[in-house]
Amino acid sequence: MQKDELAEKRWLAFPNEIRKKLEENVFCSRCGVTTIIDYTVYSSDFNILLKGRCKECNGEVARLID
Ligand SMILES: [Zn+2]
Repeated sequence: MQKDELAEKRWLAFPNEIRKKLEENVFCSRCGVTTIIDYTVYSSDFNILLKGRCKECNGEVARLID
């Protein structure tokens, strides 16, 4: 999957505080609710999809912003 620049622009248009809240509310199969780090922004069916790593275990996590 390619990084989606339009999705990234839409994501960056969110206020910082909202983005932070969403980044801190990502589900990890190992840790439960966690923070996503080192993520890339993609789009999925016109929604924004963040794919990155769990801050706790460094495992892969993703979050769909709809
Ligand atoms: Zn984790």
